[in-house]
Amino acid sequence: MFTAMHHQDVQELHFCHKEQLNAVIAIHNLRLGPALGGCRFLSYDTEQEAITDALRLAKGMSYKAALARVPQGGGKAVIMVPKGRFNRKELFKQFGRFIQSLSGRYITAMDSGSQVADMDDIRSQTPYVSSSSEIGDPSPCTAQGVALGIATAVQFQLSQNLSNIRVAIQGLGHVGLALADHLHSQGVKLIVSDVDPKKTRIAKQKYNAKVVAPEDIYRQECEVFSPCGLGAILNEKNIEALNCKVIAGCANNQLACDEMGQLIHDREILYAPDYVINSGGLIFASSRFRGLKTSEITREVNKLKDTLDKIFVLSHAKNQACHEIANEMAEQILFGKVVQFQEAI
Ligand code: NAD
Repeated sequence: MFTAMHHQDVQELHFCHKEQLNAVIAIHNLRLGPALGGCRFLSYDTEQEAITDALRLAKGMSYKAALARVPQGGGKAVIMVPKGRFNRKELFKQFGRFIQSLSGRYITAMDSGSQVADMDDIRSQTPYVSSSSEIGDPSPCTAQGVALGIATAVQFQLSQNLSNIRVAIQGLGHVGLALADHLHSQGVKLIVSDVDPKKTRIAKQKYNAKVVAPEDIYRQECEVFSPCGLGAILNEKNIEALNCKVIAGCANNQLACDEMGQLIHDREILYAPDYVINSGGLIFASSRFRGLKTSEITREVNKLKDTLDKIFVLSHAKNQACHEIANEMAEQILFGKVVQFQEAI
């Protein structure tokens, strides 16, 4: 267990086994503040898989928070879906008491498999939850950040604004559709795909988007490819097929593995690191939890432009892949001597 924690630099791993609840909370790093990260509610084949997921994802949250300049550490929780019948409400209340026992070291949020109603049940036991119905949906903030990130990348790579730029969006979910709206209003020509035809129909009607089959989205001729559906889609085959100059979208963990970042760099495609461009959601969750006003949240989200610009400039100057530059900047904040965000970013 310690070896696995060491591998991901995770400082704390907490377990709760009570009645039907089998839950893990991983806290990666508390240097910048209490850990904030979602709670996954999934079926895992083994306990080890659940633990590995929590460890890996907690680390990602630390990096995201560091570059988003939010005063939070990285954490993640995993609840294993119980086998057989169970009382969901009681399960999440029990989980709320587990969070409360950590006295604010970890703040939870919604993630794969968990819902707003679950967050409200957690909220009945502890204040350390950042996506209850009272706090609201982070997706509009994420979309706002991604639209700004796309504009920043296009300006850097093509010295152009968004007018008449072609953006291919993969996935029209909560973020993808809101992103389409932002881009359309700035004169972008949209190409879209989703496995759900209802969603592509909306984009066609509202934004005159060109609809393509899910498997065809990679090879569309466009300036920007925007992954907004699944993770791990940037693999050798898909990168080879790409016909774009920029990759910039909201999906988490877009690179199938780190080497894919180098492949993208070698193809001279500008990659906006996923955890930087999609940090609007975390900024929203953290800011709402800390009681910031909407105007202050917008100002915080807009700062991701400066961070992306810095990554692009350094990547160009050092001829180094963007994901590596982002990781180095985050590590400087998390583990280095630099404690002021401004010094590193
Ligand atoms: P969502 O579930 O609402 O949307 C995902 C969409 O992708 C759905 O419409 C789904 O039908 C579509 N999709 C699934 N497989 C597809 C495929 N093969 N081809 C095309 N479309 C496909 O999710 P969301 O909240 O919009 O988040 C999208 C991504 O962004 C996820 O990876 C999520 O982790 C990440 N993210 C979301 C937020 C947020 O605020 N919601 C914040 C940060 C990161």
